[in-house]
Amino acid sequence: MHDIYGFTVEALADRLVGAGFKKFNATQVFEWIYQKKVAAFSDMTNLSKDLRAHLESAYAMTPLAVKREQIASDGTRKFLFVLDDCLAVETVLMVQDYGMSVCVSSQVGCSMGCSFCASGLLAKIRDLTAGELVAQIVMIERLAGISVTHVVVMGTGEPFDNYDNVIEFIKIVNHPKGLAIGQRHITVSTCGIVPRILQYADEPIRSNLAISLHASNDELRSRIMKINRAYPMKDVIEACRVYFEKTGRRVTFEYILLSGVNDAVEQADELSDRIRGLNAYVNLIPYNHVKEFHYARTDMERAMKFYDRLVKRGINAVLRKEQGGDIDAACGQLRMKADQCER
Ligand code: SAH
Repeated sequence: MHDIYGFTVEALADRLVGAGFKKFNATQVFEWIYQKKVAAFSDMTNLSKDLRAHLESAYAMTPLAVKREQIASDGTRKFLFVLDDCLAVETVLMVQDYGMSVCVSSQVGCSMGCSFCASGLLAKIRDLTAGELVAQIVMIERLAGISVTHVVVMGTGEPFDNYDNVIEFIKIVNHPKGLAIGQRHITVSTCGIVPRILQYADEPIRSNLAISLHASNDELRSRIMKINRAYPMKDVIEACRVYFEKTGRRVTFEYILLSGVNDAVEQADELSDRIRGLNAYVNLIPYNHVKEFHYARTDMERAMKFYDRLVKRGINAVLRKEQGGDIDAACGQLRMKADQCER
């Protein structure tokens, strides 16, 4: 059975026309599932009985079951969702002053093997489908009774290792009859898969791009992120330049401050030299402790020095605050904890 959340409105229209229905029926279905947020085809009261019966027999509507939910002291909520095949993924809802932001997972596990990230402790088992990506948001809207305004693809997994499904997901999320979340409110974060960054620059929907840089030179980056051995920093930065030239959109570089590893002022100097002229933002992220690893968080004073140095050298930077730390929902802490399937 197909997952209704996995289709763009155009793809659904083609399928419905193929089954003898009308093109506009797809728009009606979209309005029901994404705007009126119903959870059953039988609630779609303006559709003919025939169409409802067809939808019931050909499409599934709840591909995710919620297994566990945790709420942090700052209001951040983490959901553990069980998929059709009993695997599980985590999704995080953050209450921001500008709206409701959801961090979705793109794969079950991750094969990128970054040396500081908890997700990498679980090798990739499979990609999430576009429908499973969309359903994470739909389920959270239903469970929390809110409308999601911002989406970041920064949970478990490497989105550019699941490129086609992530792009389909963005189309569905962005469509005015879908979740209608603006392209500037959608951000994809990658560890730096160069050919996909270049492909992303040519996509018609201009969602935001964030790059996990975390180092100021190749020697260090290859040591802490093994993807750098395949796609060195020079090529990643060059791809960002192409992206900026083609789209006019600023790239964000994420930079976790790891005590004694990448947080010296000389490294801030080196970083500014490497990215100058790109008009990029550097997002300095506090490291969230993962007990299997030996890294430690840079203290505030040293973090401020690093930040000041970047700014003095003309680089736009922000020092990000942590959210959801007390429930392991902060960056790089997501991992499955479903012991057995109870669907
Ligand atoms: N694979 C993608 C998206 C998922 S990771 C990527 O690499 O960008 C989302 C962000 O969290 C990345 O910048 C990642 O490097 C960062 N991160 C991983 N582990 C972390 C940790 N323990 N503390 C803080 N940030 C972490």
